[in-house]
Amino acid sequence: MKPGVVIIGAGHAAGQAAASLRQLGYQEPITLIGDEDYAPYQRPPLSKDWLAGETDISAVLFKPEAFWDEHNVRVLTNHTVVALDCTAKRIVCDNGESFEFSYLILATGGRARRMNCAGESLPGVHILRGLGDAIRLSDALHAGRHLTVIGGGYVGLEVAATARKRGLEVSVLEAEARVLARVAGQEISDFFEHTHREHGVKILTNVLANAFIGDDKLTAVRLNDGTELQTDLALVGIGLIPNVELADKAGLVCDNGIVVDELCRTKDPHILAIGDVTRHPNAIYGRDLRLESVHNALEQGKTAAGTIVGREKPYNQVPWFWSDQYDLKLQIAGLSEGYDKTIVRGDPDAKAFAVFYFRDGALIACDAVNAPGEYMAARMMIAKGACPDLKSLVDTTMPMKDIMMQAR
Ligand SMILES: Cc1cc2nc3c(=O)[nH]c(=O)nc-3n(C[C@H](O)[C@H](O)[C@H](O)COP(=O)(O)OP(=O)(O)OC[C@H]3O[C@@H](n4cnc5c(N)ncnc54)[C@H](O)[C@@H]3O)c2cc1C
Repeated sequence: MKPGVVIIGAGHAAGQAAASLRQLGYQEPITLIGDEDYAPYQRPPLSKDWLAGETDISAVLFKPEAFWDEHNVRVLTNHTVVALDCTAKRIVCDNGESFEFSYLILATGGRARRMNCAGESLPGVHILRGLGDAIRLSDALHAGRHLTVIGGGYVGLEVAATARKRGLEVSVLEAEARVLARVAGQEISDFFEHTHREHGVKILTNVLANAFIGDDKLTAVRLNDGTELQTDLALVGIGLIPNVELADKAGLVCDNGIVVDELCRTKDPHILAIGDVTRHPNAIYGRDLRLESVHNALEQGKTAAGTIVGREKPYNQVPWFWSDQYDLKLQIAGLSEGYDKTIVRGDPDAKAFAVFYFRDGALIACDAVNAPGEYMAARMMIAKGACPDLKSLVDTTMPMKDIMMQAR
């Protein structure tokens, strides 16, 4: 029997690749090797409904437990792959076990960026990437405690909203002048800052936390100017570092991610990479992207499976994301980076509006708050390279569908 496909990482992208391989009729062995305690699961609920206590662990699993056996996929948990030999087509795990492969898929995702500052290992200081982190954080979220979130990105703000729901006092510290500064325009930042303040969250911008204080547990966060903010808990939510080390050491090309083509192939024809860890071309934006999103993980998982079975379907889509905070659903189509103009459609005070982002007269992205029609239309227009009429766009009496049909 051939060694088959080995997938390193047992996250969203890995789970999808394995499922798609079987769906496409792949008959050889599939081995999924992950360093966590769990079979593939979904991370988004870890800052949202699961953390709020509204769902249990079975609801976050990527597939029901029985799925993997039923589809003859071998899932090895608590196995860390420590070496990759591209020539011998073999990987080695930390327990000495080694596996040969016909094809290898690297789906190693990323790890939470640390502050690397004094006190970071004190009890009470948390990160949130995996289910283990989420369980520790959830166990600590007792009503009446004070949680300080470091980093006003999506994950930090979602945890802030969830912690308020659970009755904690919450502060958010953001180094930039506004929350979500790296991913959204001023209008969206203003709206979310306002919403969080309405819910009692204290938001401090332009502040840099540089140490955690406490003897045997966290008692305060220290800022650059020496101010100490009393707190019981902290969440460090300052981004992700892609897990490229294994690929890098094996000689694969890495540059802020494992570099792959639109079929998810590395420079080695038998080694593919998918998900958060990849840097891949996107023809719609005309540049290489490294994305951290479920959509990207799922689509690259499907593409890699297609590439392996000889049904090649290049991956080239409009990126999309979402974020749930309080009663708000934010849906994001495209990438707003580099925009030179924004148009707001709808009313932020009514909590239903969308911000459309343009560059050189072209629509490049849309952030839609409780506005699914605007989000869907924007996604389709960006994919087609169509631009809506700007006057029509601000006219909320004109249906989005009509605006989209008339877009050129
Ligand atoms: C709290 C949270 C909320 C999120 N919310 C959203 C959201 O609302 N919408 C959205 O689109 N995206 C969201 N994301 C992002 C989304 O979850 C990721 O984009 C997605 O999980 C990426 O999947 P992946 O398979 O590429 O990587 P991962 O899910 O990170 O899986 C990679 C796996 O590989 C393992 N691994 C790494 N190295 C090795 C090794 N050497 N040996 C064995 N195993 C290894 C890792 O431990 C991990 O289990 C969220 C993420 C988090 C953490």
